[in-house]
Amino acid sequence: QADIAMYQAKAAGRNTLRFFDQHMQDILNRRIALENDLRQAIHNQQFLLYYQAQVDGANHTIGAEALIRWLHPERGMVSPLEFIPLAEETGLILAIGQWVLETACLQLLIWAKAPATRHLRIAVNVSVHQFRQEDFAKQVRDLLDLTGADPGKLKLELTESLLVDNVEDVISKMNELRDLGVSFSLDDFGTGYSSLSYLKRLPLEQLKIDQGFVRDLLTDPNDAAIARTIVALAQSMGLDVIAEGVETIEQRDFLAIHGCHHFQGYLFGKPVSIEQFEKLLKQT
Ligand code: C2E
Ligand code: MG
Ligand code: MG
Ligand code: MG
Repeated sequence: QADIAMYQAKAAGRNTLRFFDQHMQDILNRRIALENDLRQAIHNQQFLLYYQAQVDGANHTIGAEALIRWLHPERGMVSPLEFIPLAEETGLILAIGQWVLETACLQLLIWAKAPATRHLRIAVNVSVHQFRQEDFAKQVRDLLDLTGADPGKLKLELTESLLVDNVEDVISKMNELRDLGVSFSLDDFGTGYSSLSYLKRLPLEQLKIDQGFVRDLLTDPNDAAIARTIVALAQSMGLDVIAEGVETIEQRDFLAIHGCHHFQGYLFGKPVSIEQFEKLLKQT
């Protein structure tokens, strides 16, 4: 009897193990496939840059955040939430990030030529790995020189995760770019670990309230308190503040009442292709 129980336990254990192995193997295979595909994607020009409006208190579009999309030949649209982390781990983010910056600069150049669009700015997400490159500032400078895009129209979105170490290096790179006219927004603000003493030293233009605090603004007193605190913090430091993930008029009005006058979210428009974005611009 005991032998049978022992045998069953072992077999079950082995099955579990085999199942576990298979599961891990599946994840690994998918990852490897995705990584290979990602490598191809750059060559095969499968990336698109979408644009999401950023508006002021009068609902005027003042610019757009550029958000990357991957049109995979079999899988369709792959979310950046899925491939950006992989791109970060594999270093492919460097080539992807370069492509995004270049595409955004070329778009700025096109917009600069028409009176209806020449005021628009573009915010570009820059990943930690990308910013950490020794010559990141030079890369951006070269790109601006090469394209002739107005640095004053380029905003780089950084995240607090950049501030965990080597803050001096981060500050000096930011200063170098700021001196060219490039500005900075701190994305997903409130979700990271930035110490307020660092914040004061960064040449930032803007804090971006994370959508996690905007979502339940009207029902969760903690989120409301955090959003208000971020606005107050920005004001006291002389920084601009923008809220992301604004989906309802009520959220927008609450933020406006408390001093936030820049917004981004589905209420004003989803991220869309450049053609759709320009069409929407004409309608408003
Ligand atoms: P993020 O920079 O915080 O961008 C905001 C995300 O919120 C975008 O997701 C956008 O589509 C989504 N969003 C905007 N408005 C609303 C709204 O009203 N409601 C809701 N529920 N969501 C909204 P997306 O485009 O999937 O991008 C996800 C993240 O991927 C970005 O977060 C950013 O961290 C990263 N990412 C996107 N494009 C790039 C890129 O070119 N380079 C790098 N390094 N990261 C990128
Ligand atoms: Mg962003
Ligand atoms: Mg964000
Ligand atoms: Mg976010």
